[in-house]
Amino acid sequence: MTVRVRFAPSPTGMFHVGGARSALQNWIYAKQQGGVFVLRIEDTDAARNKPEWTEGILSALDWIGIARGSYEGPYFQSSYAGEHRAAAQRLYDGGRAYYCDCTREDVQARTGSQYQGYDGYCRDRGLGPGEGRALRFRTPDEGATVVVDLIRGEPTFENKLIEDFVIARGDGSPVFLLANVVDDMTMGITHVIRAEEHLPNTPKQQLLWDALGVKPPVWAHVPVVVNEKRQKLSKRRDKVALEAYRDEGYLAAAMRNYLMLLGWAPSGDREIVPWSVIEEAFRLEEVNPSPAFFDEKKLRAFNGEYIRALPVEDFITECQPWLTGTDTIVPPPWQPEEFDPAAFAAVAPLAQTRIAVLSEIVPNVDFLFLADPLIDEAAWAKAMKEGAAELLDAAVAAFEALESWDAESLKSTLEAVGAERGLKLGKAQAPVRVAVTGRTVGLPLFESLEVLGRERTLTRLRAARVRLV
Ligand code: GLU
Repeated sequence: MTVRVRFAPSPTGMFHVGGARSALQNWIYAKQQGGVFVLRIEDTDAARNKPEWTEGILSALDWIGIARGSYEGPYFQSSYAGEHRAAAQRLYDGGRAYYCDCTREDVQARTGSQYQGYDGYCRDRGLGPGEGRALRFRTPDEGATVVVDLIRGEPTFENKLIEDFVIARGDGSPVFLLANVVDDMTMGITHVIRAEEHLPNTPKQQLLWDALGVKPPVWAHVPVVVNEKRQKLSKRRDKVALEAYRDEGYLAAAMRNYLMLLGWAPSGDREIVPWSVIEEAFRLEEVNPSPAFFDEKKLRAFNGEYIRALPVEDFITECQPWLTGTDTIVPPPWQPEEFDPAAFAAVAPLAQTRIAVLSEIVPNVDFLFLADPLIDEAAWAKAMKEGAAELLDAAVAAFEALESWDAESLKSTLEAVGAERGLKLGKAQAPVRVAVTGRTVGLPLFESLEVLGRERTLTRLRAARVRLV
């Protein structure tokens, strides 16, 4: 039997990191089993059917390494409406489903104010189809439904506790529970690897598989992803969109590696391992069923390590979207013609060791490309204390006299200027740094001045001096 797994996102306009995690787990599982990965877009909600949302799913998958063209699909759930309806009809014809015209209020009136599920009122009323009549599945009164789950063992659900759930609405349209099962059947899915949030649906869905006479898939419910307060990651509260991480400058390699560590770890103490090792070592059965903490701080640190591990040419290539801007990344503050690739290449190794996400490249290098530095006023106030004007005067004079404009000479010169005033190098640097870069922190100062060049450095120091008058 060929293993066939699927990733079945509902388009929402953004790609949830938890979904990315499930997609990767499906992807690796299929690869390990010599199986097939199917992409199905669950687009039956007509309001959620924008082509650009599907495109967003394809491009997010592509970014984390599930390349277009390397899987089966995308299939669209909306194309299978005929199959969904036919399955509903078969269940009705076989006596496994019945029509019901109860409203929620009717049920509440019969069962008390707490609506606890359907009471089975229409089970034996023999209603035929009709406007406003929902089709309900007749769940067995006895026995239990045992779900075989690679991560959770064999969760068992007593059938008498499963209500007669709706499979098609009053307008005849099948609901998610049924459409999802019928699609999995139609697509020959053997393993359903999906988020824990769907576990309550699983016994109902397995009953549908049984009733439709097809062997149910093996299930694997991967853990819910939570924030630091152990709350389920939510798009209203947390940063959950994969695209947001991508646009902030997380490397795809770091992101997908980190996602695979949600609920699983390779043996030993290693966390930063090549993708090929993860693909080999990952075991779906070893995934921890408890909620997985999405630790953004750890991810940042992780990403910094990935950035530092890049060959510098690759680092320069990875930075390009932030140096130029794209349709989703805001352009940098300089004009395209102001950018100097050689100057960037000269400071790139210095920046590479200092940033955790690629977007941080911009504030580190903007002083090189802007005609005037962007002055951070708080930094200015902090650095331009008493004595700053005199220090700048002395620095200008000493720098003007320099024969060789290199980091070493600049450093020893400023050191001497500071020493004459009883200042350590750190203190002497502060006004110079703010005058030239606009900030109190940044790349190593003297290398920065070397790359910026004599003329521009002196112009900025003089401009700062004028401002201090
Ligand atoms: N469309 C469902 C979702 O996005 C997926 C259901 C499933 O994986 O079975 O949550």
